[in-house]
Amino acid sequence: MTHSLPTRLAHAGRTSNVAGGQPVNPPVVRASTVLFESVAQQREMRARRGHDRLFTYGARGNPTNFALEDMVTMLEGGYRTRLFPTGLAAAAMVILSYVRPGQHVLLPDCVYEPVRNLANGFLRQHGIATDFYAADGSDVPARLRPETRLVYVEAPGSLAYEMCDLPAVAALAHAHGALVAADNTWGSGLLYRPLELGADISLMAATKYLGGHSDVMMGTVCTTEGAWAELSATADAFGMTVSPDDAYLVQRGIRSLGARLAQHQESAIAVAGWLRERPEVARIFCPALPDDPNHALWLRDCHGTNGLLSFTLRSTAPVAAERFVDSLQLFGIGASWGGFESLAVLADMRRARSVTEWSERGQVIRLHIGLEGVGDLLADLEQAFSAIADIDHDEGDKNGPRVDAPHW
Ligand SMILES: *Cc1c(COP(=O)(O)O)cnc(C)c1O
Repeated sequence: MTHSLPTRLAHAGRTSNVAGGQPVNPPVVRASTVLFESVAQQREMRARRGHDRLFTYGARGNPTNFALEDMVTMLEGGYRTRLFPTGLAAAAMVILSYVRPGQHVLLPDCVYEPVRNLANGFLRQHGIATDFYAADGSDVPARLRPETRLVYVEAPGSLAYEMCDLPAVAALAHAHGALVAADNTWGSGLLYRPLELGADISLMAATKYLGGHSDVMMGTVCTTEGAWAELSATADAFGMTVSPDDAYLVQRGIRSLGARLAQHQESAIAVAGWLRERPEVARIFCPALPDDPNHALWLRDCHGTNGLLSFTLRSTAPVAAERFVDSLQLFGIGASWGGFESLAVLADMRRARSVTEWSERGQVIRLHIGLEGVGDLLADLEQAFSAIADIDHDEGDKNGPRVDAPHW
């Protein structure tokens, strides 16, 4: 019997097996509906899909996403991974997976600011209490409460790249009966490996270095076997998944992660060394620098650095930092980082920290050093310093702190 064209169109193109060799990349499998051979097979798959990773419905992932999950699990050294539409969604789902109303979560003072806003807004409204602890973790023992269920770590922290002693914090939290989740976006799995340092959960904004090309949003969460069930159940409950096209882009980004990070590090260290020689610069934040207060822990726990560094100007003139950033031509002004391109943003540290007294001047300039030629980036920074030379001269504070000459 010959079916009508609409029927034949609806049934065409299902074959994915073609004779020949194997491509080096997984196919992009776009799917909502997945067909079963029988009601019995569907029933059996549904019974197992809570713990086994099965292709049963698009909202539960698909083979392209599964391939990326496996790459992230490899990168993080964990048990299994789930994908989320953004890094922020990953962070929110982690907290909601492990902390119930009436319980308490500890967040670091250096936490990515939207997570701070989540804590002070949604979490508080839903009966989940939060305290912030000093970025170095020194006051964690004093802030643990009987109902503390999760200690969240971000190392190095956002904007000023503070380190905490993750193995020590994890030992304290575990002795207290709390789990430890780390935001590993800075480390991207190659530079920092929280699960090996005692964390139970590691999340990343794949939007940053994993994607690496400023064209995709995604979050990943990898856990130990013990912490897996709650995360996975929450992701299923909220229908969290990502597009296979996006999963493919992140896979493609991960292929070159090591090579890109090596170049980001080389250029960022060159820029940091150059900035240290500038009389306009008061302080540089980069744990890879030997005189950074976080250097010893960075040396112990990190496997390198990336393209991020922040600095403050000696000038107290409020317009100085803004005009400096406005004067940059190769550095774009925009959120995010981890792509191939250089970026500059102004951040107000007095707003971004609540525990630590931010005695430095409030504004830091955060640079993401991209993959452009470093000589061109230095020339751009040089001309931006020229553009603020009159401000420094007329209104600047010449008594600000100076860092020592480079010695690496
Ligand atoms: C960017 C970022 C996030 C959030 O990632 P999005 O994909 O932009 O939501 C989370 N944590 C850190 C440390 C980040 O830098």
